[in-house]
Amino acid sequence: MRPATGRVDERVVSFDEALEIVLAEAAKVGRPAVETVGISESVGRVLADTVAADRDQPPFDRSTRDGFAVHAEDAMAGTWLGVAGQVQAGHVWEQGPLAPDQAIEIMTGAPVPEGADAVVMLEHVEHSGAGSMRAIRLTEGRQVVPGGNIVPRGSEARGGAPVLEAGTEMDAAAVALAAACGAATLKVFAQPTVSILATGDELVDVSEAPGPQQIRNSNSYGLEALVNLAGGRPLRQPVVRDRRDDLERAILMARAADLEAQTADLGARAADLMLLTGGVSMGEYDLVEEVLLGLGAEFFFTGVRMQPGKPVVFGRLPELEGRAAVYFFGLPGNPVSTQVTFACFVESLLRAIRGAAIEGPRFAQATLGDEVAGRPELTRILPARLTSKRVGPEVRLVVWQGSGDMAANARANCYAVLPAEVKRFRAGDVITVLLR
Ligand code: AMP
Ligand code: MG
Repeated sequence: MRPATGRVDERVVSFDEALEIVLAEAAKVGRPAVETVGISESVGRVLADTVAADRDQPPFDRSTRDGFAVHAEDAMAGTWLGVAGQVQAGHVWEQGPLAPDQAIEIMTGAPVPEGADAVVMLEHVEHSGAGSMRAIRLTEGRQVVPGGNIVPRGSEARGGAPVLEAGTEMDAAAVALAAACGAATLKVFAQPTVSILATGDELVDVSEAPGPQQIRNSNSYGLEALVNLAGGRPLRQPVVRDRRDDLERAILMARAADLEAQTADLGARAADLMLLTGGVSMGEYDLVEEVLLGLGAEFFFTGVRMQPGKPVVFGRLPELEGRAAVYFFGLPGNPVSTQVTFACFVESLLRAIRGAAIEGPRFAQATLGDEVAGRPELTRILPARLTSKRVGPEVRLVVWQGSGDMAANARANCYAVLPAEVKRFRAGDVITVLLR
């Protein structure tokens, strides 16, 4: 039974409360399905299982320098050491243990010969003789200690020990480590499907010529890009007009996880997350909340005291017609608001739905380059540019015409976060930035 259409109870919260609500819901999200992918396909995916070292890392005592393997004590005595031979990476010294008063030339990455306990850098020795008479000694003033320039076997990881935990986002460092451990295939979580539904009578597609009163639907493409970058599988829906019945039908269709399943209603897998844009403000044709309510939605918040992005809505549709319950965000139609609210709220929930560790938005700190006015009642999250200055990162606001100014947003590379209650932020203040 669907509840009768009516007005949604307003629940406008502070920015911090909104973040808390999103993270609390993120903590309730179940474990996604697991699949196996080749290591080359694993970047951007979330590990579903631990990766263990398949042997000690490093697998032998490894020289970190080009130089000479020695007994530290002998080398420190300052006497000439006869060069007994050479060992390069990929080879082993097989002529027996290092004798006192001997050195063995060694290359970076080669196994340290038995009996040697240190490597002296090439740059730290003097040479004499040639061929079988070749000898080296430590340059005066240079030191060598036992263990110097050697990474002992197993010191990075013991064979069998976990090196990557389930929930790890596979970045380049993780991929390289998995490769070092022989993980040619990896168990990862299935990528969630994210339905994207833009609403508005004024919208035409990117490939169409807009009439004088029309604009292009840029939000669907912007969100598609954001979902891709955040590791989800975007499913762009056709634009829907500002009519109750059209909206209801489009929302029901957008719940299906693939376009073919949208016509065959029952039993199809539901999208894992729904993003709607537009139609969440106070206007007469802002019908999204009302239609969602008619479909039995619960609302966690219906607005956030922030700028831009104030009308953002977060909720969940119940299990319906064989499709599982699904979280949704009603994002404001103004394109900068759409992208800011994605970065603030959607990304964190999407991380959880992807099976990654629960984490808030990617905040960092930087020195403000110019003076900005705060808003007593709103957290401002403004398009800004982060640059690396000699003393550290500096952030400057981008000049913008408001939350529709996509050109300004495209010139930005982060958002400056200006908390409510502060009247004025001055040049030199350290402020929070939201990375993107
Ligand atoms: P709304 O939230 O529907 O009141 O829309 C707010 C503003 O955002 C209006 O100027 C809309 O024309 C614009 N807008 C809404 N949806 C989109 C979209 N998909 N792409 C670009 N602009 C949009
Ligand atoms: Mg609209």
